[in-house]
Amino acid sequence: MIVCKFGGTSVADAEAIARVVDVVVSKRVSLPVVVVSALGGATNQLLALARKAADGELLAALQLLELLRDRHLREAHALLGGTAEAEELATEIGASFDELAHLAEALRTLGYLTPRSLDTVAALGELLSSQIVAAAFRRHGHPAVWVDARDVMKTNDAFTRAEPDLEAIALAAREQLLPLLQQGMIPVMGGFVGSAPGRITTTLGRGGSDYSASLVGAAIDATAIEIWTDVDGMLTADPRVIPGARLIERISFDEAAELAAFGAKVLHPATIAPAVQRGIPVYVFNSRKPEGRGTMIAFDAPRLPVRAIAGKRGTTLVKLRSSRMLLAPGFLRRVFEVFETHRTSVDVVTTSEVSVSVTLDDATNLAAILQDLAAFGDVAVERRSGIVAIVGAGIADGSRAMADAIAALGPIPVYMASLSATGINFTLVIDDDQVVPAMQRLHATFFERGS
Ligand code: ASP
Ligand code: MG
Repeated sequence: MIVCKFGGTSVADAEAIARVVDVVVSKRVSLPVVVVSALGGATNQLLALARKAADGELLAALQLLELLRDRHLREAHALLGGTAEAEELATEIGASFDELAHLAEALRTLGYLTPRSLDTVAALGELLSSQIVAAAFRRHGHPAVWVDARDVMKTNDAFTRAEPDLEAIALAAREQLLPLLQQGMIPVMGGFVGSAPGRITTTLGRGGSDYSASLVGAAIDATAIEIWTDVDGMLTADPRVIPGARLIERISFDEAAELAAFGAKVLHPATIAPAVQRGIPVYVFNSRKPEGRGTMIAFDAPRLPVRAIAGKRGTTLVKLRSSRMLLAPGFLRRVFEVFETHRTSVDVVTTSEVSVSVTLDDATNLAAILQDLAAFGDVAVERRSGIVAIVGAGIADGSRAMADAIAALGPIPVYMASLSATGINFTLVIDDDQVVPAMQRLHATFFERGS
């Protein structure tokens, strides 16, 4: 059993959906469960429509609604032609949008949105895309069955970011999906969507389809989860910065989590944790290049000193110097309380006996922070800082890789260096305008020489 999840760009239109069918069928995936996002961009449009209606702009809301209706009908027709099933599906799509129009009117009357109503509106994207995809499989002669995600993805009622009820999902998934798989059917369900007790529609939060896929995979004890998207997999650096970045074929969950913290947008590791923790590997593949090797994310991966290079610009460096720090228990706690009070999270930290340096990603509350910190000693700020990180589970196996990293930077000054306690991330704080050249130098050193 394998869960194959296709994101919004992979189901954006009839052509893309036909590729989905092809990928699942031609790869001869054994016993696939298919999880899909809404047609690319549909969730944003549904949410915009709800906001407009609640803001009193009913006409604009209904115009958006008609565009979405047309798009769904058009793509369904392109896939299914004039079959009886196409007609049935068109009726279903029409009825859903009629209902949505009533809801929009109700929102206009109310004049405000509740998280619950937002979920009802947003869920329509996946509820419809999954029905279209299921029909597309059947049209190509493959026995797919649409499964209403609300019958499987049981959650609490924290609308717009509902938390999954793992036991209920395990039970429901086994009841709903296993019999279909045993009969040789392909279950197709929407991601992102769930239901709270009473079968009230919920969603898992934006981008939640990966989470759905991993929850379903964990529930049925799948052998793998495949996330099909529009990139080749995870790369050794952000390709916008390093055009020659290479595909990472295997990466550990912890390394992937480090990279995500630096904005690697392929997927959010938290969403695949339920699967990885159960030992189920997660693959990232490109649905436009299905022959590609993709990236395998697993609990463990062969240990390398350097798996990838990451960078971040626009951080703020705050340096506190205090002679009182000397031998004062609780000093650091009081310093960090200042950041907590001002709801600012600290990223990199280094300390010496008389100083503490930290970097902040978000400097919104900097003025207030500086004022409070002044009570402890002398404070200096460098607003134009950046970070480069060398990520690899073996980064601290000997000092060679760290020495190479520092050497690679050549003339670029380094203000802080920090090795994470788990030895997976060697972070260097540098000037903001040096982040790109530093990444280029590091990438060249670790990935472009010989090998
Ligand atoms: N369609 C939802 C979103 O855009 C969920 C997903 O695509 O993962 O956030
Ligand atoms: Mg997505």
